[in-house]
Amino acid sequence: MGAVRKVGLLGGMSWESTALYYRLVNEDVRERLGGFHSARLVLASVDFAEVEAMQVAGDWDAAGAMLADEARALEAAGAECLVLCTNTMHKVAGAIEAAVDIPLLHLADVTADAVRAAGLDRVALLGTRFTMEQVFYADRLRSHGIDVLVPDEPDRSLVHDVIYDELVRGVVRDPSRAAYVDVVGRLVEAGAQGVVLGCTEIELLIGADDVEVPVFATTALHARAAVDFALS
Ligand code: GLU
Repeated sequence: MGAVRKVGLLGGMSWESTALYYRLVNEDVRERLGGFHSARLVLASVDFAEVEAMQVAGDWDAAGAMLADEARALEAAGAECLVLCTNTMHKVAGAIEAAVDIPLLHLADVTADAVRAAGLDRVALLGTRFTMEQVFYADRLRSHGIDVLVPDEPDRSLVHDVIYDELVRGVVRDPSRAAYVDVVGRLVEAGAQGVVLGCTEIELLIGADDVEVPVFATTALHARAAVDFALS
């Protein structure tokens, strides 16, 4: 086997889910290669307070410029691919891709591939308000022939608020889990065949055991795609 390729994780958004990426990528490499093998990776971890302030201000250009700088640093540190460890900030994927020569493993493409591989074509999408209400993510899923349902209000606010008030702060609460399960139930009633956990912290709260339809956990899917790349 040739050398394992070095993965660049662009994380800190939030570090609660970046920590999960780090664990999952290493566990997967150990599982596939055995012995003492672990992942070769470099991590750029930003201060989420800065990113969140830009999100609230709608200053996506500044956020794109900041993440493009981090991506360049990862490339200079030897990263052979980029894994942007957040669904929301794929809004500025174009700015990041334009800044480097290495490929960005786009999370919506990775997720869409998993949905199609499961034989589904209509899914619910949970995520931040930005991810649920803007087109950058849902349209990318749709470009793969997938119908996307998002929660109505007030469910959308609930899903968004739990992410920012709890999950990115490391708070995982049973009442929030129950509320998310109810939201998913309503989307399944509306025709969703599966649910995309389109925020990298949501899988810290709910998983396949909590709902009756197939779950597409974006952190786990993205981590696996990173290892596929590293070992290819
Ligand atoms: N990690 C989250 C996501 O996957 C939300 C935090 C952020 O805004 O980046 O969208």
